[in-house]
Amino acid sequence: LFTCVCVSAIPVTLLDTRTVPGELKWAANPAEGGWEEVSIMDEKNIPIRTYQVCNVLEPSQNNWLRTDWIPRSGAQRVYVEVKFTLRDCNSLPGVTGTCKETFNLYYHESNEDRESYIKESSFIKVDTVAADESFTQVDVGDRIMKLNTEIRDVKVTTRKGFYLAFQDVGACIALVSVRVFYKTCPLTVRNLATFPDTVTGADTSSLVEVRGSCVNQSEEREEPKMYCGADGEWLVPIGGCFCKPGYEEQGGACKACSAGFYKSKSSDPGCSKCPPHSRSLRDGANVCDCHTGFFRADFDPPSMACTRKKPPSAPQQLISPPRNHTLCLPCGSDVLFSPDQTGLQTTRMVVSRLRAHTHYTFIVYARNGVSLVSGAGASQSASVSLTTNQAAPSPVSSIQLTDVTRHSLSLAWQQPDRPNGVILEYEVKFYEKDQRERSYRIMRTFLRSVDVAGLNPLTVYVFHVRARTAAGYGEYSAPTCLLLSGDIAAKLARDSWEVIKLLVFVAGLFIQLVFLAFLFIHPSPPSFLVHFRLPSVVGVKIYVDPFTYEDPDQAIHEFAKEIDVSNIHIERVIGIGEFGEVCSGRLRSQGKREIYVAIKSLKAGYSDKQRRDFLSEASIMGQFDHPNIIRLEGVVTRCKPLMIITEYMENGSLDAFLRKHDGQFTVIQLVGMLRGVASGMKYLSDMSYVHRDLAARNILVNSNLVCKVSDFGLSRVLEDDPEAAYTTRVRLIPIRWTAPEAISYRKFTTASDVWSYGIVMWEVVSYGERPYWDMNNQDVIKAIEEGYRLPAPMDCPVVLHQLMLDCWERERGDRPSFSQILNMLDKLIRNPGTLPPGTMLESRVGSEVCVSVVPEVCVPPWSMYEWLQSIGLERYRDVLAAAGYSSLESLLMDRLGIITPSHQDILIASVQQEMLSQMQHMQHSMVPV
Ligand code: AMP
Repeated sequence: LFTCVCVSAIPVTLLDTRTVPGELKWAANPAEGGWEEVSIMDEKNIPIRTYQVCNVLEPSQNNWLRTDWIPRSGAQRVYVEVKFTLRDCNSLPGVTGTCKETFNLYYHESNEDRESYIKESSFIKVDTVAADESFTQVDVGDRIMKLNTEIRDVKVTTRKGFYLAFQDVGACIALVSVRVFYKTCPLTVRNLATFPDTVTGADTSSLVEVRGSCVNQSEEREEPKMYCGADGEWLVPIGGCFCKPGYEEQGGACKACSAGFYKSKSSDPGCSKCPPHSRSLRDGANVCDCHTGFFRADFDPPSMACTRKKPPSAPQQLISPPRNHTLCLPCGSDVLFSPDQTGLQTTRMVVSRLRAHTHYTFIVYARNGVSLVSGAGASQSASVSLTTNQAAPSPVSSIQLTDVTRHSLSLAWQQPDRPNGVILEYEVKFYEKDQRERSYRIMRTFLRSVDVAGLNPLTVYVFHVRARTAAGYGEYSAPTCLLLSGDIAAKLARDSWEVIKLLVFVAGLFIQLVFLAFLFIHPSPPSFLVHFRLPSVVGVKIYVDPFTYEDPDQAIHEFAKEIDVSNIHIERVIGIGEFGEVCSGRLRSQGKREIYVAIKSLKAGYSDKQRRDFLSEASIMGQFDHPNIIRLEGVVTRCKPLMIITEYMENGSLDAFLRKHDGQFTVIQLVGMLRGVASGMKYLSDMSYVHRDLAARNILVNSNLVCKVSDFGLSRVLEDDPEAAYTTRVRLIPIRWTAPEAISYRKFTTASDVWSYGIVMWEVVSYGERPYWDMNNQDVIKAIEEGYRLPAPMDCPVVLHQLMLDCWERERGDRPSFSQILNMLDKLIRNPGTLPPGTMLESRVGSEVCVSVVPEVCVPPWSMYEWLQSIGLERYRDVLAAAGYSSLESLLMDRLGIITPSHQDILIASVQQEMLSQMQHMQHSMVPV
């Protein structure tokens, strides 16, 4: 993996006042009483020329000083380094409001090197320059000065050269030196191609594409290319050259193979020793000649030893005589022959990746070119057959529910894909979901089905099945969760009792209220049997693709609420979407307070397909309910224009937001934003939803800095549906954000969303920089293919860049899951010490962890009041306070007599955990920043 080619930038100086012999004699306006040239001695006693002005007592100063004309010599962006001293106004006795502590830097591009006076109006301002450290101490004689160094850069592309000017408006300044330079990426050799000294581009983000030329004695493997970045670093090497036959790479050049060695193909890695009975007498041989009396056939490779004219005899001492192998199939590409299947020169080899419990026959042929040349007929062979041992079977898949009653059910499953032997039996393990394997039952059967009795109605059970061969048990199948049918009232009553038992244990009245709140907010479980294949949470839904509905209106009415247009008050246009304008406004709904919303409308003159596509986004969004997913308020379909109403995100899209606030957040705040996106994506992946267009531009940010995933236009579940790739709307793939397998064969999965998430991380940490800058798409694809990955953005902690690199693993199975990403970010947030000191963290970390982080993790110190507030029962605070309970700890300690702090912590943590998951259902609001 390579990121940048670390050859440092070489600055080329266009002007340096310290090296100018004699006086500078720059133009000044006014010629007298403004800037004055003064010669002084620098710290090494070398005379230098400075310009000084110090009219701090007079109002309305406007003193200009202009350099001589500076030819730009091909530069496109120049850097101006000014060293200066500036008097602190407070240190000057008797000055009034006229004293300033800044000056202005200007430039003016020109072909003319003889402009005699300063045309102020033709100058363009670069910046106002202030001192980092104004000095008060001036000790003339052994003069102690605090020098400020400021660098500004400016694009100069239109004329042959330029002038710089310094405008003073009433400060006390001495310009000690001015240096003007531009940057180049220095001549370098990469992948055997030479890249010339290259002047950097005109903009800070521009990359100059440079074609390399192959070094001597080499030829092109693939067009060598590299990019010269604005700061003079070479980036993204692509392609390269090979040394020609007879030459090998040594230290970036191609050296001839010495006598006794050869290299036949340019793609061979290096020179090899001549094979037996051959030699090369000169340097640079691409083949070795046979010794006298030895031969090699024309079609023998140069690596083949030369032999006397005799066909070889059959190999000897193979273990058993050949068996009839007429029913055999070729091994296929899974089997691995080491060192190789053909062209072996030794009499040993290792064959691996064989299937368990499978009969194999190996036939070994001996051959040399001479046997064929001399017409000696087919080479002789010997063979050996064997059967591999049994192994544990692969996991059982596709477990089906075949029958169910209130107390029993029947399951059936398929044989494992790889039985790896004779299946002796199956083992079924199951437990109540709430028990989490603390107590489980096991049943064994020879059949591929089982009847399970004695189950509790309205209870979620988790089933796993595994198979056994003589070699032992295979792995268990993924969990299959089944909710038994029954009577909801009975279930609620039973749960109520459980909850009451637990809560009364903590605090009678108080906890009953919690329980009532819980009943009130928690969605009722369905009364029919639900079959889902998700590992963790009861009630996790699977996303339904609205395109599977024949009638799009049926999908929209199932997942979205129809809003009466008279309740919507549109205020202003905030953006342009694919289907029309996006406006902000207010929505009034009965019994609720008015809320701010975003309103997307479908422009007039749409086709049926456009209508369907437009509404599909709402049908998708309406299925989600998560604090980091944009919330759908409803749709307007009964009158025109059609509208989709979502919650309003005050700060708009994340990329633009970050660009606007470049450098203004702490690392922890950035990680908090990323954490929100990861949490939303985990929720989507748990619902088997693949986003396919995850990018910072599709994340919206609200006024509390909460990031929410949006833009559900392009997405579709493709995992289990090989046809889906062909039924989707044809849209361009966002190359820079998309995983290689999704680009090359449309394999869009949660793992490809993880790749895109890595790119979002990069966008966030670099404050909205464009991934791969202005490289073209083809080059991005090629660079990724060759192993290039985006380098760490400026000030990016190593751990974050490592997480990005993990998301960009070539093998999608090697990328982390969203849940792992979330854990990792949570760890960072909890232990900001793992982020390196001195980046952007400073000392603000401790207090900001909470406020800058999105929901879920943002657990404020857990006070009784906040707990009550979180469940909408804050009005009971006073009652409890009157009873002497101001904190959860005091409640636990008094009521339960638990005084050991660690035990209190455990209990509080468990209550917090429970409450947090409740809060996720209840609240979409945030802890304000
Ligand atoms: P979209 O069609 O979703 O890409 O939206 C176009 C633009 O409208 C976005 O880039 C945002 O700037 C803005 N926008 C969309 N939805 C919202 C929203 N819910 N809140 C605020 N701005 C939004």
